[in-house]
Amino acid sequence: MIYQIGSPILRAIAEPVTHIPASEVQQFIDLMEQELVDSGGVGIAAPQLGQSWRMLFIFSRPNRRYPLAPVMSAPLLLINPQIVAVSGETQTDWEGCLSVPDRRGLVPRHQRVTVRYYDRQGAEHLTEFTDFVSRIFQHEYDHLEGKLFVDHVAPADLISEVAYRAIMEHQCTPSLS
Ligand code: ZN
Repeated sequence: MIYQIGSPILRAIAEPVTHIPASEVQQFIDLMEQELVDSGGVGIAAPQLGQSWRMLFIFSRPNRRYPLAPVMSAPLLLINPQIVAVSGETQTDWEGCLSVPDRRGLVPRHQRVTVRYYDRQGAEHLTEFTDFVSRIFQHEYDHLEGKLFVDHVAPADLISEVAYRAIMEHQCTPSLS
């Protein structure tokens, strides 16, 4: 079950994972990955599944708006991610969320973000994400901070899924003149 907007856990600041090898942590990682694949999303964070732990997955796939987005063969898990640096440059684009049904909004995000995190074996990594993947990361990281994408959206830029699809189709219709 994916927790929906209005659930207090989505507004809590998640706790660091203190013992990565613990079976309850490892089992929850498996559950997160399964939910991510089943939902068809490009990312998921632990609080969305009811655990207030600092863990998130990124699973980038190309889409119409980001045709050059990297194809990730498997979801990438980040445990206790820390933002080390961000670009001054931002990009504004549409987002949705598994926890916010039937809503899309325009959200500005840093074009680049440098992140330190741990994998499920406890190894530390330092990675830079750009463009669409940077956006996914920032969206999921927000979940660990008790924030939702709607917090960043101007009222007029928060729309329904139907309205969003209409905009997308309009943008992709070739000009007849
Ligand atoms: Zn979300």
